[in-house]
Amino acid sequence: MIDVTLLGTGSPMVDPHRAGPATLVQAGGQTILVDCGRGVLMRAAAIGVGAANVSALLLTHLHSDHITDLSDVITTRWISTFARTPLPVFGPPGTAAVVEAVLASLAPDVGYRVGHHADITEPPVVEVHEVTDGTVWDVDGVTVAVGPTDHRPVEPTIGFRVEYSGASVVVAGDTVPCAGVDILSADADALVHTVIRKDLIARVPNQRLQDILDYHSSVEQAADTAARAGVGTLILTHYVPALIAGQEDDWRALAATAFAGRVELGDDLLRVEVRPTPAG
Ligand SMILES: [Zn+2]
Ligand SMILES: [Zn+2]
Repeated sequence: MIDVTLLGTGSPMVDPHRAGPATLVQAGGQTILVDCGRGVLMRAAAIGVGAANVSALLLTHLHSDHITDLSDVITTRWISTFARTPLPVFGPPGTAAVVEAVLASLAPDVGYRVGHHADITEPPVVEVHEVTDGTVWDVDGVTVAVGPTDHRPVEPTIGFRVEYSGASVVVAGDTVPCAGVDILSADADALVHTVIRKDLIARVPNQRLQDILDYHSSVEQAADTAARAGVGTLILTHYVPALIAGQEDDWRALAATAFAGRVELGDDLLRVEVRPTPAG
């Protein structure tokens, strides 16, 4: 079984009730964090997960809302562990430069702490792997495969497929429908997909919001991707505009126009247990 927890279901728009984009995938004793948006460690703490427990951090892309708390993950892991604990980070090309810049911004803090705590003798250690496809993680029966997504003009962008004990979960990140996501999601037991309500956003007289229509999937498009790929459960997140309590069925109805399987959506900390789909 693989446990999926939506740590943050928000978007760049600040929301008092939704943290920024982040999804936790737990399997075989491993804790894999996908993206690290605003408030990620506060939400992780709510389910007993700390920065020190993260086996690997996967980044779908380098849009700010998906990496706002990279600094927090790096720093908190560093100061809350008592042995050398490098943080493995897998992201698209460009990730190394971003991590380097974050570490550079932390230079004063690193100086203070190394100078003050006798047992902290080196800066945080981050092991960056820039990846675009293939299997990038294979530890104790948990594998992570990477495939390209299409969030242009943001590029390159990637999605991840985690497999464990016959179950599979794909975290697609921000993308329009594309062959890369179709291939990565083929017959997956669950697909975590970011969505926007194009029907609602199209009515907002704000050009900057109109601009986002062309590089995100609508609920219907995400559902169509799930149907095409033969996915078992579609998990929607990164709601734009924010999902308002009581309107869940509207979102479900849109997904149901294209996808007959189980649809999960809701608030931060929504947890979905993903088991292998019985062969039918
Ligand atoms: Zn994005
Ligand atoms: Zn986003």
